[in-house]
Amino acid sequence: MKAEVIVGMVSRFCALCGKETNELLENLCYECYRRLHPLVRLPSEIEVKVCKNCFSYYLSGKWVSPRSQQPLSALREAIRAKVRKSLKFEGKVEEVKVMNDILIKLPKKGEFLGIRVKVKGKVHEKLPSYEEEYLVRVTVTYSLCPSCMVVMGGKEKAILQLRADGRSIGREEMEKLKLTISKALEEVYEVDKGAVILDWVEKEGSLDVYLASTYAARRIASYIQKFFAAKRLETNKVIGYKRGKPVTRLTIRLSLPSFRKGDVVDFKGNPLLIESISKSGVKGLLLTNYSYVKVPFTKLFRNPKLIFRREELVKAMVTSVNPPYVTLLTEPEYKQVEVKLTKIPLWIKEGAKVNLLEVRGKIFLSPIIA
Ligand SMILES: [Zn+2]
Ligand SMILES: [Zn+2]
Repeated sequence: MKAEVIVGMVSRFCALCGKETNELLENLCYECYRRLHPLVRLPSEIEVKVCKNCFSYYLSGKWVSPRSQQPLSALREAIRAKVRKSLKFEGKVEEVKVMNDILIKLPKKGEFLGIRVKVKGKVHEKLPSYEEEYLVRVTVTYSLCPSCMVVMGGKEKAILQLRADGRSIGREEMEKLKLTISKALEEVYEVDKGAVILDWVEKEGSLDVYLASTYAARRIASYIQKFFAAKRLETNKVIGYKRGKPVTRLTIRLSLPSFRKGDVVDFKGNPLLIESISKSGVKGLLLTNYSYVKVPFTKLFRNPKLIFRREELVKAMVTSVNPPYVTLLTEPEYKQVEVKLTKIPLWIKEGAKVNLLEVRGKIFLSPIIA
């Protein structure tokens, strides 16, 4: 038997290809690791939607005007933008090149284009940078963008009005609403190509969305109502006559309730902290006895008397609990307050932060709603 002398480090082997190397990532040699971990994920087929009139393209729920007026350059831009948007980065991507120069004439409807995508980067920080190439099948569909649709004879329009009863829509609520509308649009666009937004007008906590289709407006309104406790009102107005026939415009008004999560409202003479709002009603904490109640949206409860907005509540820290007394220190004034409570729930404990409110001379404590 021949004795083998091993000098230096012990060599290891790639678990997949068996190559002998000391450079391993999760038991794989660099080549095998790269093969199993592509830099980007992308769909095998991508549809690019362009306006056949002005060559605007549809990207993430919006129509984008191309930089170039020349159809072929505009289409190249549309493909580049759509392909880039469809890529999901898996590692550190340094550069993406969409090789759309093979496009030398406008493709026909339904024609497949093989577009190569070059990606530079690395999928693991230990790897040096490298380049990968992908092939994606692109089809181009031609339609009309909303402005061209209106110009070219158009459809009747609809306005979706978003409001809140007796207050303006808060910034967070507004962002959520816009996101919900974008999601709804994408869904509705599949069945109604008129589901495109002509204009958004946002001012002083209200939002008006102008749409090219009444069907889309109704679908989007219903979609919003799935997630928001919004009251709906539809009106149809004659806005003019075309060849003797009335042209109508649909207005759908969605109103959010006057209160938000974290506000304190009056419920049968007692302060009620709104903990959550669903499309059918609210769940709240009665601050008189710390019991939870579920209240459906009846006519009476859509606009209850607001006692405190959540921003108006005073913050305080519990410094001691000696039933039935609770001592607190208000913030930021550091005023000491003692409250007598017949029931002390678990969240009222030393060191806890709570809200403090005074209603008709009586002090109530409430948990802080995030
Ligand atoms: Zn290997
Ligand atoms: Zn257009």
